Amino acid sequence: MELTFNQAAKGVNKEFTVNIMDTCERCDGKGNEPGTKVQHCHYCGGSGMETINTGPFVMRSTCRRCGGRGSIITNPCVICRGAGQAKQKKRVVIPVPAGVEDGQTVRMPVGKKEIFITFRVQKSPVFRRDGADIHSELFISIAQAILGGTARAQGLYETINVTIPPGIQTDQKIRLSGKGIPRINSYGYGDHYIHIKIRVPKRLTSRQQSLILSYAEDETDVEGTVNGVTQTSTGKRSTGN
Ligand SMILES: [Zn+2]
Ligand SMILES: [Zn+2]
Repeated sequence: MELTFNQAAKGVNKEFTVNIMDTCERCDGKGNEPGTKVQHCHYCGGSGMETINTGPFVMRSTCRRCGGRGSIITNPCVICRGAGQAKQKKRVVIPVPAGVEDGQTVRMPVGKKEIFITFRVQKSPVFRRDGADIHSELFISIAQAILGGTARAQGLYETINVTIPPGIQTDQKIRLSGKGIPRINSYGYGDHYIHIKIRVPKRLTSRQQSLILSYAEDETDVEGTVNGVTQTSTGKRSTGN
């Protein structure tokens, strides 16, 4: 059974139809057409067993005439042809528990039979799953990374306002406790980990360009060089244009 990421994470009631062999509903498993009489098997006296005398031994076995039924059907049921069992289409509602994982199987009674259902959980374009924990990425600007701030991230249950501390690094994780998937074998929820990605702008306004050059002039811990910034012979940096 195919489930979306969110259905598996939050749980869902899934309806589907199965074809199973079960007690014939038309004859209620008796095998004769409803309203018709069933003949008592005179061969076994209705016991369904016959006694075979083989010299010194007396064997009891299933009556060959009635097949152990004890009665003879003269008007077999039109649905099951007297078998008492028929293929039936059944609508089943499966309460898929929240937190079900890809490949997990559940057992489910359908009529007098049991069926096994294996879940296939689709991938999410937003979330990655690790048990009850979920992971997602959040892109922030350079200024947000340096100065801190807030950003909106898609959560499993709602949109989340994430507080970004000043000086956050790329790939740093922000843990949102209890915002993950319900734990299927215990209590509580997993966590939501937001992986920070810093978006570097490809185009700058001329003002941003001059500001970033000024910023670069004051940078002291640079390995190598910065385009547009040259180091003077005195060790001080100045703009090259
Ligand atoms: Zn029947
Ligand atoms: Zn019989």
